[in-house]
Amino acid sequence: MSNELPSAPADLNAKPASFAHYVSEALATPGEALQSGLRRTACTTLQLNVTTRCNLACHHCHVESGPKRTEAMDARVIARVIEVLAKNPQLTTLDLTGGAPEMSEHFRELVTEARKLGRRVIDRCNLTILFEPSQQDTAQFLADQGVEIIASLPCYTAENVENQRGRGVFNKSIEGLHMLCALGYGKPGNGLKLDLVYNPGGPFLPPSQAELELEYRDELSTRFDITFNNLFTITNMPIKRFAHDLERTGQVSEYMSLLVNHFNPQTVEALMCRETLSVAYDGSLFDCDFNQALAIPIGANIKSIFDLDTVDGLEGQIVATDEHCFGCTAGAGSSCGGALKENG
Ligand code: SF4
Ligand code: SF4
Repeated sequence: MSNELPSAPADLNAKPASFAHYVSEALATPGEALQSGLRRTACTTLQLNVTTRCNLACHHCHVESGPKRTEAMDARVIARVIEVLAKNPQLTTLDLTGGAPEMSEHFRELVTEARKLGRRVIDRCNLTILFEPSQQDTAQFLADQGVEIIASLPCYTAENVENQRGRGVFNKSIEGLHMLCALGYGKPGNGLKLDLVYNPGGPFLPPSQAELELEYRDELSTRFDITFNNLFTITNMPIKRFAHDLERTGQVSEYMSLLVNHFNPQTVEALMCRETLSVAYDGSLFDCDFNQALAIPIGANIKSIFDLDTVDGLEGQIVATDEHCFGCTAGAGSSCGGALKENG
């Protein structure tokens, strides 16, 4: 894969075209007129921002989560989510994020009902939450329900993890991984999937996902006897806390140029917003969790889960994009499921 893009500008201020234009060019069929921007494909995943509350307050958090946030889905939204899932079997995956989704008082009901409907359920777990006083049996609950876990571990060294996530987080994360492995997580073939997430510790693109996964596997197994399924590399999005860091250090323009100059047309086809519907705590719909954090309304004409009957009508509708979207298309690309095209 080549990262070179001849038409990419060196500076966003000089950018002649929007992200939508880059995307339209990437998706264009030779000889046909450019389609207008990014469009949705069939919707397969409902991603819920269950609560913005979190026991941590990481430097790179695009939701700006922390212990003082209070927004959370109430019983009415949860009931509607379950209703929509039941009516739309094409929604095969329920992806739970936050904040720390486990902190929602409705978390277990949501998981249990979705599993009863036969849906794949993903919990985006920060690992340290498993040691909070009210969460002592959460790991067992997740294993009993066959929930897949995607756990943040930005590095296999304590220093890098704690620079991003705070003191004491590394040891707790390792302890959390031990707990999950003891329950059978991370062993290929038994259905208890445990994936890890890396994100860069600064304004640079992630390295090769495949190569880093080998390093993680080696380090975690040798030093801690931890096994896992896959490693996902995720690019830091130039929004919220990470954007504030960039502003403070005067690196906004440099980072945006890096993202734009590494625009990779091959990532566009697989952008997660094309098949995922993001739901906020109050039931409003967004094209992705980043747009939700930025309060950029969904491009489609259905704005709330209470107005959503079938997800079929979403196919072909426009995705709302802006400059931060270059974070998803730079280099190997980035999504909640990691790289979109491996570096080659
Ligand atoms: S654990 Fe996740 S949700 Fe919580 S503050 Fe850190 S990045 Fe944000
Ligand atoms: S930021 Fe959201 S809308 Fe933009 S490309 Fe990424 S996933 Fe799609």
